Order: sequence, then C-alpha cells, then structure tokens
Amino acid sequence: MIDIDACRTILVVSPHLDDGVLSVGGLIERAAVNGADVIVATVFTADSPQGGALSPLAQELHGMWNLGANPYAPRRDEDEIAVTSLGARPVFGGLLDALYRTSHGGAPLYPTRQSVFAAPHVDDPIGAPLLQLLQGWVTDFAPDLVLGPLGVGGHVDHAVTTRALYRLAAQRPIQLGLYEDMPYATGLFPPNAPDTVAAALRRSPFAPKGSSLIAVDLPGKLGAIAAYASQIADIFPNGLAFGSVIDNYMRSHTEDGVYSERLWDVLARA
Ligand SMILES: [Zn+2]
Repeated sequence: MIDIDACRTILVVSPHLDDGVLSVGGLIERAAVNGADVIVATVFTADSPQGGALSPLAQELHGMWNLGANPYAPRRDEDEIAVTSLGARPVFGGLLDALYRTSHGGAPLYPTRQSVFAAPHVDDPIGAPLLQLLQGWVTDFAPDLVLGPLGVGGHVDHAVTTRALYRLAAQRPIQLGLYEDMPYATGLFPPNAPDTVAAALRRSPFAPKGSSLIAVDLPGKLGAIAAYASQIADIFPNGLAFGSVIDNYMRSHTEDGVYSERLWDVLARA
C-alpha cells in the first residue's frame, strides 16, 4: 500500500503537459495541502522544431491547438498555471514530443494518430536521454515516492516513459506507483481504438503487487485541468464534457462513490 500522507517529497512524472494533473491532480493537491513538496515533472516539453516540414499529424494538432508556430511555450505556461494551482511545482524535461521525433534520415517516426498509439518505433532515439532525465530528477529531488504512467491508451510517449521508469527501478531502490492515464482509463479513448486498465496491466513490464485508492477532492483538479485550454478538444473529442468524464471515473472505484484516484503498486518483473 502506498501511504501518500507519509510522503514528504513526491515526484510525479508526466509524459505530456497535462497527464499528471489529468490522472492524479487530486492526489497532487492532497499531498501539497499536507505539506509535501510535490514536483510535477513533464518529459516532452521542448519547443517544436522550427524551419523544417511538420508531419501531417503535427500540422493537424498545431491547427487544433491554435497556439501559433511554437505551441510548446504557451503549453508550458498552461502547465505552470495548472500545477501551481494545486500547490505543486512544475519542472520541464525538454525532450521532443513523438510528434516531432525523426529517424536519422529526418523522416517523421510518428506521422499519424495510428502510429502515435502503437508500439515505439525501432529507430526512436528517445530511450537513453529519457532514462538520463529520470535519473537526474531522482538525484536532484530525492523523492520518497515516484509516480508515473501505467500506460493506458497506448500512446507511444507514455509507453517509453513507463519503460524508462522500469529501467530506473532496476537501478535505484525507489518507491514507485503507476497512475491510471486519463482519460484513457475510462475505456472511451482514443475513440477509434479504446484501451483499458486491464489491458495496460497485461502489457506492462511491471507486475502489480496491488493497488491503493487515494480519496481526493474534485474541484481543485477540475479547475487545474481547465487551465490546459488548448488541449481540451483533443483530449476529450466529439464534444465530450471533460468534467463529467473525470467525475464519473473518479466515483467509479468504490460502491459509495467517494472521489478517488488509484495507484498501482508495482514490483519489477524478474
Ligand atoms: Zn499524454
């Protein structure tokens, strides 16, 4: 069992600028209110490459976000507002999102939604710098709990982050909990290829020892999610109201409908 209230320093590893808050925003707020130092460290936050051609998917998303040619600067600003509103502090990893990663020859590795929600490309160079980044964060912040994505949804950036945490856990004696990636954990997303927590657990390099339900409040988390204004239409497509999606899922873990977030307490597979 993970005892959140006993933790003094918590490192929440978030693949993108929104995942940590979407998935465990309530827990972040609860720990911060309790006096813990909570760091929400986002991996893929680098400015989009300027001057080169963007892949079709990158062009589509830039259009949807409507943040101009360098959308990651305003996206970091959104994250700063969201994370600080919960009493935590944001840290940016500065690695390139899958949208922009290329092979040595310069070809986009993930030019379509289908390729983004699939296994990592064999030519993806992200593994080594990602592990190095996580090692640096654990050294710098000395957290007594590290939280990272279970990998529900199958987004490649989530999958490589989980893999890097697995390699890190083999090197360092860290207490690690995996959070259920939202909104994918609801079983509704992505709409054309929905995933489930059970499927993610089967795919995971980790074998769960069990799970811990953390009772949390809802309003602060919803307010923080709203700060990611540019992302809402992409995360919750087809006009789905994010408030009710989050609300329903967080009440679904217990029979009496207490708002909670679930962490999977993992043990590295031999
Ligand atoms: Zn994400």
